[in-house]
Amino acid sequence: MFRFSIPRILLISTLALATSAAARSPDHHAANGRFTNPHVTSSHGGVFKFLQRRLFGSDTWASYHPDRDGAVPQGTPRLVADGERTDNARVTWVGHSTVLIQHNGVNVLTDPMFSDVASPVGFVGPSRKSAPGLTLETLPRVDIVVISHDHYDHLDAPTIRRLGNGPQYFVPLGLRDWLMRVGIDAGRISEMDWWDSERVASRRGDVIVTATPSQHVSGRTLTDRNRRLWAAWAIAWDDFSVWFGGDTGYNDVQFKTIGDRFDGFDLGIIPIGSYAPRAYMSDYHLDPEDAVRVHQDIRAERSMAVHWGTFHLTAEPFLEPPEVLQAAVNAAGLPADAISAYAVGESRAYLPLSL
Ligand code: ZN
Ligand code: ZN
Repeated sequence: MFRFSIPRILLISTLALATSAAARSPDHHAANGRFTNPHVTSSHGGVFKFLQRRLFGSDTWASYHPDRDGAVPQGTPRLVADGERTDNARVTWVGHSTVLIQHNGVNVLTDPMFSDVASPVGFVGPSRKSAPGLTLETLPRVDIVVISHDHYDHLDAPTIRRLGNGPQYFVPLGLRDWLMRVGIDAGRISEMDWWDSERVASRRGDVIVTATPSQHVSGRTLTDRNRRLWAAWAIAWDDFSVWFGGDTGYNDVQFKTIGDRFDGFDLGIIPIGSYAPRAYMSDYHLDPEDAVRVHQDIRAERSMAVHWGTFHLTAEPFLEPPEVLQAAVNAAGLPADAISAYAVGESRAYLPLSL
């Protein structure tokens, strides 16, 4: 049975962080009320055109057959139990971009998606190729949810309804109304522009949640394209910091700025899949080489590779991303485990570097 319990979060307060005028640049607010990417210069229509071609075109598609291609590796979760004291942060890959981060008694869940199909209707659309590493029944209490954007593989109405009003939801501009429509109370929603921060106080120390830039698009229907913002998230405990990238393409400005402003991170959570064909996907989805650049730009000590092995959304072979990643990590001269792909359901421990 899904457990509801009193969250440990005691106080949410908006931070008046010192923010430079340049970082506050409204470049991503377009005049038409929609949002835009300050560092995208091409005009080929990106993902939207690609989806049209996928639906109506004749592009060849690398189909996935587990018997032929191999199955997505499966691991066993080792969660931090309620009340257990540990100096390590524990990080578990649920699948796709859903990650559970447990540290200092605070449980954070990124882009929660537990459904079988990522689409507006539950019976047609990209279907899940690997079961979630945790189910909604085995998920521990969630204190904080961060949502990167409104695409169906990152924002799922049935999942949010099940999580209910237990967590505090951190969402980019434009998503408050959506969450309220699926039953989340206004007081449980923190809607943010890039560089907004909030402090979440818990019994064992504060957690600061900050929306940071990313390069992507949004939309759940044919008419709401880019009406809601997209974001990546920085989550900082006193002694451990994480950056969750959501979906993003690469540019050589935003991630360096993020790395500079936060002076690096203990852990990056970086998407590596949904990259082919590059002619359509490169503006809005990293490939593994780009993921290595982001890892370096944000100055992550280690990174976890996500957004692969779950939904088959694009043209690359389904299990190719971690293979290409390993080659890219080697080519960059980084340690082999600098950026690693987990098995679905696998948990790993990270010792805060400051200890
Ligand atoms: Zn997306
Ligand atoms: Zn995605």
